Amino acid sequence: MSAGSAATAEIREAVRALCARFPGSYWRDLDRARAYPTQFVAALTEAGFLGALIPEEYGGSGLGLSAAAAVLEEIHASGSNGGACHAQMYMMGTLLRHGSAEQKRQWLPQIAAGRVRLQAFAVTEPTSGSDTLSLRTTAVRHADHYLINGQKIWTSRAEHSDLMLLLARTTPQSEVVKRTDGLSVFLIDMREALGAGLTIRPIRTMMNHSTTEVFFEDLKVPADALVGVEGRGFQYILDGMNAERTLIAAECVGDGRWFIEKATAYARERRVFGRPIGQNQGIQFPLARAYAAVRAADLAVCHAAQRFESGARIGEEANIAKLLASEASWQAAEACVQTFGGFAFAEEYDVERKYREARLYQVAPVSTNLILSYIAEHVLDLPRAY
Ligand SMILES: Cc1cc2nc3c(=O)[nH]c(=O)nc-3n(C[C@H](O)[C@H](O)[C@H](O)COP(=O)(O)OP(=O)(O)OC[C@H]3O[C@@H](n4cnc5c(N)ncnc54)[C@H](O)[C@@H]3O)c2cc1C
Repeated sequence: MSAGSAATAEIREAVRALCARFPGSYWRDLDRARAYPTQFVAALTEAGFLGALIPEEYGGSGLGLSAAAAVLEEIHASGSNGGACHAQMYMMGTLLRHGSAEQKRQWLPQIAAGRVRLQAFAVTEPTSGSDTLSLRTTAVRHADHYLINGQKIWTSRAEHSDLMLLLARTTPQSEVVKRTDGLSVFLIDMREALGAGLTIRPIRTMMNHSTTEVFFEDLKVPADALVGVEGRGFQYILDGMNAERTLIAAECVGDGRWFIEKATAYARERRVFGRPIGQNQGIQFPLARAYAAVRAADLAVCHAAQRFESGARIGEEANIAKLLASEASWQAAEACVQTFGGFAFAEEYDVERKYREARLYQVAPVSTNLILSYIAEHVLDLPRAY
């Protein structure tokens, strides 16, 4: 059902074969324990999928965003969850585009080989929320190092990562010329930072997501942990967000496919009043509508990924893909629950787990309202709302 090109067909098949080794029972057990899917992530790393976007000269596969999107879509369409590892794909782009030659030489081959995990992306703070420019974590330059103080929230996978990409303020907001200046990106070696100024506190959430709060108290990082130019960090993060939104949208398309496949199979089998429930148009139509929405979202994702690969700026396309895909997957989730009736609520069918997992994407990594604001302001040229 995916609109992906023939070039990605082989990748899709390989991902499906890998995911088949991690059935619903694997994910259910982890979900109950809120445990990290270590074996699954190791298998993906070993197969080279998490290094898909790393250029071949650094030991990666050198593939484009369409291929990375295909990997994540198939993971989700198989009933698995890419939330445990997707960040490596989009964060790596920040390092690749803005990192120094030395940083790339040092980290990319290790990430590609699976020796180092780049999974923690620390942007959101408890008081700033969607208003990234008002974040309060500071990095103050001293002779050969920076001292970092502050707090982040929702830093997912921090306990399962060796590196953290951090956005912190290096120039007070009152002293910058442009409001988007004064923030900087750091690549922090968490193995050295833990216990030396960095503390991690897990947050238990409605689905299994390994998310955390992190606290920085006089964390000393070497000056060469800075990525790119000091003060330009917000631009770097924005650059990466379009790839992130496209990849997350691909996961939503995968979720949508999973819900529809699961629901249609059940609707064909389940007999009530002497006939399959799928014979009733009251069951058919919500599934047909959801299917159409997922297909349309899939086209939007493919379009965004292809434009990204051609070097275009894809603010509009990535935001639209994320909006449509997160809503389509939720439409499919609703139709699936309604089709299963009471059995949707039983753990063993995985519907309730996927339903909890799919809900996130209308909130994170960017909420629907913020996407609509982007489209209104930047595409439709309406006055800025905030
Ligand atoms: C499970 C999970 C994992 C996450 N992982 C990460 C991660 O790894 N790294 C990271 O940095 N962040 C992460 N996040 C944070 C995520 O990006 C934010 O939750 C998201 O951007 C929304 O921010 P907020 O929760 O602070 O909501 P708020 O900014 O407080 O917004 C609350 C609501 O108000 C709405 N709203 C706010 N302002 C406006 C406005 N001007 N107009 C209209 N509506 C408005 C929003 O749309 C939203 O619906 C994660 C979040 C979750 C829940």
